[in-house]
Amino acid sequence: MTARADAVACTACEVHTESTYRIEGMDCHDEVQLLERRLAHLPGLERFTADILNQRLRVTHDASRLSAAAVAEAVNATGMRAWLEHERLSALISRGSSSRVRLVALSGIAFAAGFLMQVGGLGPGLVIPAYLFAIGAGGVNTVRRAWSSARAFSLDINVLMLVAVAGAMIIGEWSEAAAVIFLFALAQWLETRSMDRARHAIRALMELAPADALVRRDGREQRVAVDELIVGDTIIVKPGEKIPIDGRITDGGSDVNQAPITGESLPVDKHVGDDLFAGTINGHGALEIRVTRLGRDTTMARIINLVEVAQAQRAPSQSFVERFARYYTPAVIVAAAIVALVAPALFGQPFGSWFYRALVLLVISCPCALVISTPVSIVSALAGAARRGVLIKGGAHLERTAEVRVVAFDKTGTLTRGHPEVVDVISVNGVVPAEILRLAAAVEARSEHPVARAILRRAQHDDSPLPAGEGFRALPGLGAEASVGGEHVLVGNHRLFEERALCSPAIDRQLDELGRAGRTAVLVARGGRTVGIIGVADAIRDSGRAAVSRLRQGGIERVVMLTGDNAQTAAAIGSALGVDEWRAELLPADKVAAIEDLKRRYGAVAMVGDGVNDAPALAAADVGIAMGAAGTDAALETADVALMADELLAVPYFLRLGRATVRNIRTNIAVALGLKALFLGLAIAGAATLWMAVAADMGASLLVIANGLRLLESD
Ligand code: ADP
Ligand code: MG
Repeated sequence: MTARADAVACTACEVHTESTYRIEGMDCHDEVQLLERRLAHLPGLERFTADILNQRLRVTHDASRLSAAAVAEAVNATGMRAWLEHERLSALISRGSSSRVRLVALSGIAFAAGFLMQVGGLGPGLVIPAYLFAIGAGGVNTVRRAWSSARAFSLDINVLMLVAVAGAMIIGEWSEAAAVIFLFALAQWLETRSMDRARHAIRALMELAPADALVRRDGREQRVAVDELIVGDTIIVKPGEKIPIDGRITDGGSDVNQAPITGESLPVDKHVGDDLFAGTINGHGALEIRVTRLGRDTTMARIINLVEVAQAQRAPSQSFVERFARYYTPAVIVAAAIVALVAPALFGQPFGSWFYRALVLLVISCPCALVISTPVSIVSALAGAARRGVLIKGGAHLERTAEVRVVAFDKTGTLTRGHPEVVDVISVNGVVPAEILRLAAAVEARSEHPVARAILRRAQHDDSPLPAGEGFRALPGLGAEASVGGEHVLVGNHRLFEERALCSPAIDRQLDELGRAGRTAVLVARGGRTVGIIGVADAIRDSGRAAVSRLRQGGIERVVMLTGDNAQTAAAIGSALGVDEWRAELLPADKVAAIEDLKRRYGAVAMVGDGVNDAPALAAADVGIAMGAAGTDAALETADVALMADELLAVPYFLRLGRATVRNIRTNIAVALGLKALFLGLAIAGAATLWMAVAADMGASLLVIANGLRLLESD
């Protein structure tokens, strides 16, 4: 993400943003001056204000030319540190826009008055002042912007518009001049407003976390501002209230509506020990919560930050549009010059009529609708997805998703719930089930694997004291080992036991049977002898089948399951879900190889996993999608796409959205280019008027925006 100085300068299509940073190290006036010097030259930067007292820097910039991250980089280059901050935005959005509305309205009224007087046959002594007033009121912002870009020696749409308006006044086309200025101001205002709507859609939803909290300190309950809470405080949330911070329940239980974070419509049951997110809504129970995260560390703040950083990135089709626009604008300006200076000599018609055509060309030389076509679609799609609990780390992923042919799923924790239960304990060589469980549990006590937790739960259930394992070693994708009571104990899957030559035909038969029932077989060996098999079952997620069939309907050629589990279990679960193919007994590195193989065979691959175990495979895929990311920081930060909820149907939704976005962008580009081509022809033929050209431009921009905003609602 770097700012590019050579991007097209087109103020009408700017993507205005205001970012607020917290600056570490900005303590005195000298540092502000240092920042001023550093920031002043960033292209796309409009304005900034420094607040030393609160160490805040507020920057207004054009996000299509200067990303929020590039501003932070520039600050970091001074030795200070910049953090994007998220505060209540509602006030910001409306601020400054009301005076603008008034000016646009004044301009419109004056224009209408002038027009009516002209039609009514009143003399120029009344008509021209009305038009002049319309030009003055509508042109304030244009002049200001034109001036700032003229100083930077850039050919900005504002400059071009002013030239066109001045030209129109010179040849006495007063009504045209006023119409152009008014429509142009109106278009800019409408564009900014609708872009803001898309840009802040995600905040509007999440910004609603309460500003204060009921905290218990020294046995007394008091309301304090959320800013004053510290990690470790205990706060109380009453039924129906919003949860103000991230925390863990220490007392009570409730149903919590997590839709603002995960997009899930159904409330989730929460008990002591469960984590809660700021911005979610407490249901019927009263809760005591220990504060775990505050301010910009909360999941909500991080989501907002990630979405906004993603929105500020440029998507591949945007670069195409910008390359095009870089040639288009100068080419049309040159054409305008030729029409004004050369055509009268060639065709011998009066200078005035060619001059007018040249002015029309100037007006349509700005590729406004074209430049706005991609960002508006991407920004809307990203915001709409975030509202549904799908966090996409940039438009590039959406565009790549449209190419995806294959979706690969990890099994455990992704297609299955990831909460396995022990359902069978089978003795081998006469060791009793309780002993098998005790041995396995002693090893698994140190493991984080879901299978390990299932075994531990079951062993603790039987409540005989567990022996302690020593020298624990995890064998990723295979199992684990430790020494228990002086003897080596090995726990793991068939592949591991084959490698260690601990299988026999009798054991294999047992494994086949467990596998056919869709169970994961965990073998246990003590002192180099297999002593038992533990059958573990993990329920398939309810929406698994539906998700697979929707993917197929959506045009995915192949749905594949990748798993470290054994072949029979994979087959049982894979066929229950209706996937096309499953690959079993894969180590993490094998999953990466499987992804590469799928890429070679079918084309672009999306991989869906839990983001922790499966990070290498997610990285190897064209698009890496992590599930259940709300709880795990690593998944939230590293995957291309993070599904906040454990909801498989979000996968087909995301793939549909990718395709819809690319279609949307193509439509936008076609509309923008088509209208330009049409008016270019009309202008040269002398059939287009100035106000028609501006109106067409505005129409194209608004059409493109309206089309882009549809992605906010698509599902
Ligand atoms: P998946 O690909 O299904 O998500 P993993 O790669 O995490 O699974 O593990 C693959 C297989 O290795 C599991 O199905 C299990 O049989 C075995 N395994 C891994 N770790 C352990 C463990 N700590 N205890 C028992 N079995 C394990
Ligand atoms: Mg897994």
